[in-house]
Amino acid sequence: MPDLLVRNVRPLGGPAADLLIRDGRFESGPAAPGTAVLEGEGRIALPGLVEAHTHLDKNLLGLPWYRNEVGPRLIDKIDNERAVRKALPIDPRQQSARQAVLSVSHGSTFIRTHVDVDTECGVAGIEGVMATRDAMRDRVDIDLVAFPQSGMLTRPGTVELLEQALRLGAETVGGLDPCAIDRDPKGHLDTVFGLAERFGRGVDIHLHEPGEMGAFSMELIIERTRALGMAGRVVVSHAFCLGMPDPSVVEPLISALAEAGIAIMTTASPSRPVPAVKRLAEAGVVTCAGSDGIRDTWGPYGNADMLERAMIVGLRNNLRRDDELALALDIVTTGGARALGIAEYGLAPGCIGDLVLVAAETVAEAVAQRPGERVVVKRGRVVARNGAALPA
Ligand SMILES: [Zn+2]
Repeated sequence: MPDLLVRNVRPLGGPAADLLIRDGRFESGPAAPGTAVLEGEGRIALPGLVEAHTHLDKNLLGLPWYRNEVGPRLIDKIDNERAVRKALPIDPRQQSARQAVLSVSHGSTFIRTHVDVDTECGVAGIEGVMATRDAMRDRVDIDLVAFPQSGMLTRPGTVELLEQALRLGAETVGGLDPCAIDRDPKGHLDTVFGLAERFGRGVDIHLHEPGEMGAFSMELIIERTRALGMAGRVVVSHAFCLGMPDPSVVEPLISALAEAGIAIMTTASPSRPVPAVKRLAEAGVVTCAGSDGIRDTWGPYGNADMLERAMIVGLRNNLRRDDELALALDIVTTGGARALGIAEYGLAPGCIGDLVLVAAETVAEAVAQRPGERVVVKRGRVVARNGAALPA
C-alpha cells in the first residue's frame, strides 16, 4: 500500500494539520523522505463516507431511461422488478461497478449493499457484486447482505439460496417485512437469526412495516438480538414505525433498541414517516444512512452522494444549527462505521487511511452545500480527484 502525506488539511473543520498514511493507516510522526504528497490546500478532511444501505446489483445507471409505471404498493414494485429484470440487460456485475465508481467519486470508501437472492435469479446477483467487490478492493470496501427481496418463507427454496449466498461470502443476513411480506413474523425472524447464528454473521432487516405492525416486528427483532447476544451486529433499515406520532409506542422501542445495541438505518425518505434522528442520538441509538435504490425500477432518484444524503437527513429532520448539521455528518461517517462494525474508523493514528477532502469552511457548510471536486483517498491511495473516480 502506498504511503501518503496529506498536507495542510483541516480534520473535521478544525485547525490545519498534516495527515500521514503508512501501510494503509493513519500514523503520527514525520513522513519518511520521498513520501508522496497530496496538497490539501486548506480543505476540510472528513473520514471516508459510509454508504450504509444501497442496492448495487439493480441500478439502471448507463442504461436507457426506464419509464416507471409501477403500482403504488410495495408488492407492486417487487413483482415489477422481477418482470423487468427479464426484459432489461441488468448485469449485476456491470451495474454494481457503475454505481461503486459513482460512490467513490463522491467520497464513499465503504458500501453496504443488499443483493437480491430469489428463486428466479438465484445467487447470480451475489456473484456479480462479489466480482465487483474483488475488482475494486483497492478503491472501496463492499459488504454484501444476502437479501430475500421477493420474500423468504412464501417462496420455497429461498432459504437454501440464502445459505448458498452466505457460503459464497456474503457477509450479512438480510430480511424483509416479517409480517407484511412473509406473513409469518416468528418463522421469518427465527430463520434470519438462525442463519446469523449458524454462519456467525450480522443481520440487516428491511422493515417498512408501518405503525403497530412494524412495532410488533421490531419487538421480535429486539428479543432475538438480546437472546443471541448480538449487540452491535443488527441493523434495522428504514424503521418507518419509529416515525409514527404516538410516543407511548415509539419511546419504549427507542429505549429497547439502545439497550439491545441495535442500529437504525434511515434514508430520511421525504415521502414516509421516518425515525427522528435527534431523538435516536439522545437515546444512544447508533444511526446510519444510505441511498437505498438509485435510479432503478423502484424510483428514478439518487446519485450515491452521502454528503447529499446528510443534507436530506437534515432537511427531513429540521436540522438547522451547526451542531445539528454535525449530527447529520456523523450519521454518514461514524454512525455508518459503528452500525456496520468497521473497526478503527476515523482520522486518528491507527485508523484506516481513508479520507475525503471537501472545499468548505465548516462541516455545516460541507453538508448544506455539498461541494463537488472532491479528492478521495482509500488506504493511502488517491482514488478520486476533482469529483471523478480515477481508473484502477
Ligand atoms: Zn433497500
